[in-house]
Amino acid sequence: MSYNLDTEVLYQGTTLQGIVRNPETPAIYPSSAYILDDMEDYLFADKGGRYYYNRSANPNRDELGAAVSFLEKGGKTLICSSGMAAISTVLLSLLKNGDHVVMNQAVYGETVELAKWILPGYGIEVSFVDFTDLEAVRNAVKENTKMFYTEVIANPLTLVTDLDEVTTIAHTQGILTVVDSTFTTPFVYRPLEHGADIVLHSMTKYFGGHSDLTGGCVTASEELIDRINPEYLLLGCCLDPVSSWMFLRSVKTMSMRVRAQNRNAVKIAEALSEDPHVREVYHPSLPDHPQHELASRVFDTEYGYGAMLSFRLEDDHEKVSAFMKSLKLIRYLGTLGGIRTTFTHPRTAFRNNFSGEELDGMGLAEGLVRISVGAEDSRDLIEDLKQALSAMDK
Ligand code: PLP
Repeated sequence: MSYNLDTEVLYQGTTLQGIVRNPETPAIYPSSAYILDDMEDYLFADKGGRYYYNRSANPNRDELGAAVSFLEKGGKTLICSSGMAAISTVLLSLLKNGDHVVMNQAVYGETVELAKWILPGYGIEVSFVDFTDLEAVRNAVKENTKMFYTEVIANPLTLVTDLDEVTTIAHTQGILTVVDSTFTTPFVYRPLEHGADIVLHSMTKYFGGHSDLTGGCVTASEELIDRINPEYLLLGCCLDPVSSWMFLRSVKTMSMRVRAQNRNAVKIAEALSEDPHVREVYHPSLPDHPQHELASRVFDTEYGYGAMLSFRLEDDHEKVSAFMKSLKLIRYLGTLGGIRTTFTHPRTAFRNNFSGEELDGMGLAEGLVRISVGAEDSRDLIEDLKQALSAMDK
């Protein structure tokens, strides 16, 4: 049967002629919905029997989720539209009015903002604690504490949390431990193997790896993910199919990127440590880092110690600015984890949102510069840093 032109054109080209078999890479499924056979089919789909609506489930997100679950050794993974979407979905789904969270004081700035500005509105109380001080973590626990929230390598001083110890405290009191493992990546460290209940990432960083994707993921046991899933659906933070497909593509080269970037970071940390302009270097690979022994024990050092490092120059705005402007290869960028080396000035990133005192408390000194190490030849990177450091003398 043929229809009028306006009708027919809507149905042309929607089914492939011939057989497409075994493509080397998966197809992209951009469809926002799937045609249903009848009411029984709808009910089957609605119970999770098959794909029927993109926000509920999508093949590209599921494929990516399976790869992340494999890497993190978890039961199930939710793929979200950003790292913050992953974080807010976990916090808003698992915490209720009257609950208390003990949060590492050194987590990502916007996670702090969420905890300080959004959670109290829902009747959720947060205590900020130094997670390298286990006694402080223990003392912060209250009767209504439901969650510990931390990062493995915390911003910007690269402090490493001993999750085996933290989760031992949590387990004895029925507290869930949520870990943002963005800086570590599953190649270096897998929090679920160290007692954590939930691991999440800003996939915008090392999973994407090329500074051209925004996404997040949450991995846990099937049971926990099923508890988070209703809010995931209702908050509407699913990642789109094309980005999911691109992330899966990036995951295939992630181990190579991470290994190369992390190796470069060790070399740069060593080179900076020797420069007289640099007061201190923060990277877990350095023997004088406060958690070097811990990191060497719990990280898979074949992959390294992460590619994020910070260093402290003199707390002189003009001199720090001269250094930043003199860098030729390494660029100022408001993200991290990309294949190219970039830097940021952490204090400036939060100057508009926190007082000077608060910034000092967060360790964001004027002289602090953070580098996200990429995969260039480390000799070029060290050369660029050295010439920019010398420019501070002029
Ligand atoms: N967690 C960490 C450690 C981060 O560095 C970031 C972003 O920089 C986020 C979470 C938030 O991720 P996104 O920007 O993808 O929302």
